Amino acid sequence: MEVLYRSTRGAKEAVTASQAILQGLAHDGGLFVPTEIPQLACDLRTLAGMNYRELAYEVMRLFLTDFTEEELKACIAGAYDEKFDTEEIAPLVKVGGAWHLELFHGATIAFKDMALSILPHLMTTAAKKNQIKNEIVILTATSGDTGKAALAGFADVPGTRIIVFYPKDGVSPIQEKQMVTQKGDNTLVVGIHGNFDDAQNGVKAIFGDEALAKELDAAGFQFSSANSINIGRLVPQVVYYVYAYVQLLARGEIADGEEINVVVPTGNFGNILAAYYAKLMGLPIAKLVCASNENKVLYDFFRTGEYDRNRPFILTSSPSMDILISSNLERLIYRIAGADAGKDTELMAELSKNGKYTITSAMRGQLQDFCGYFASEPESAATIRGAYEEDGYVMDPHTSVAACAYRKYKEETGDARTTVIASTASPYKFTRSVMEAIDAEKYGKMGDFELVDELQALSGTKIPNAIEEIRSAPVRHKTVCEVQEMEQTVKNFLGIR
Ligand SMILES: *Cc1c(COP(=O)(O)O)cnc(C)c1O
Repeated sequence: MEVLYRSTRGAKEAVTASQAILQGLAHDGGLFVPTEIPQLACDLRTLAGMNYRELAYEVMRLFLTDFTEEELKACIAGAYDEKFDTEEIAPLVKVGGAWHLELFHGATIAFKDMALSILPHLMTTAAKKNQIKNEIVILTATSGDTGKAALAGFADVPGTRIIVFYPKDGVSPIQEKQMVTQKGDNTLVVGIHGNFDDAQNGVKAIFGDEALAKELDAAGFQFSSANSINIGRLVPQVVYYVYAYVQLLARGEIADGEEINVVVPTGNFGNILAAYYAKLMGLPIAKLVCASNENKVLYDFFRTGEYDRNRPFILTSSPSMDILISSNLERLIYRIAGADAGKDTELMAELSKNGKYTITSAMRGQLQDFCGYFASEPESAATIRGAYEEDGYVMDPHTSVAACAYRKYKEETGDARTTVIASTASPYKFTRSVMEAIDAEKYGKMGDFELVDELQALSGTKIPNAIEEIRSAPVRHKTVCEVQEMEQTVKNFLGIR
């Protein structure tokens, strides 16, 4: 079955997977969605016998139907290799009654590596397939983790350039250091005076600027996106939910076909949407628990049916979830509206005009698979401390939001199903917040890298290469700009006047 991709905002003709990956965002500002969600083609027991790469092929081939077997297998082999510090790629670890799916064993120690280590391969393959002559300019807004993972993936990839915008005061010290030390002549990292939503809106505006697209084309460039709006990000993320399930099956933790719950610390709604796609493919998932930090727009949305971004933007210790406009939610909205692009367009117009919209009761009725919980800053810190004291396990502040949400969910519902928590970052990436959660008094005054050593002593886990690399690396990127200067910054980098 061939799967094509259509914009959530227009009924215009569909494009192939490779074209959707190249474009990133549809021309009408919508997001590409598959015209149909394919069903898993192998039974779960067979999938349980596969390693990560084999499973990735089995899942991704169903979505990326215009890639040949040889092309897709080459992309997978180039992505899931020694860049990961474990052969399992995404290990499952039991902590306090739930399974943590550790998605942070890649090059930049956040779950973004799961998709961004393969995206450059998919993108360059797609460019060849579609006879693209232009250089591809990857434009990315980041709340901290996407930026570094995309930079690591695209650095020095021939035929590409990458520009990353991050909120200057909205990322962790280690996240910033990781980005501004990035090597590669085709890379540019820019801090903006604004928050993540400003960065994301700025990037979307540049994408939507047709005059600029013409100027770029004349100069031999075209834009694409490494943000989770790109279907080439979403599809690789479906894989690890299937992997988690079949690992539990292989270990005898669940019976074949038994339903599990999945808890996801959520920002832009990409990761949890991938879990939802896995469910729609036939993976036995009961509930999808959407965990928010104090920027709890999604929690409110699942409780009331109203999405309202009109509220203060809170800087928390889980910066990659400090988001008030969750882009990927649009894919869910489109689906529960019955693939009605008109309805989706109407709601998104309301969001951009009034900062809010309310879905119909029929749409709400289709959200049974989801529920929302949130963790305050003190609750998130207490969860880190509790897991350390009780299980000797140190988790990062995003994962702790999910672990806390799960505890609340379980208390409220009594649902005792086997549960997988998406563990999205290494604690080493957020050393300061993690160590202060464990003992503010003792660690509050130490320097960032001193804390890294303390974390090692306390957790007994190896310091990841990603951290060793930046200890002494020189800062290469010092550009800072206003939100209104983003477009000009892009032009300067590309040498367009
Ligand atoms: C990006 C990120 C998230 C949020 O994921 P979304 O797909 O944007 O919902 C959560 N935790 C970490 C560590 C991240 O980097």
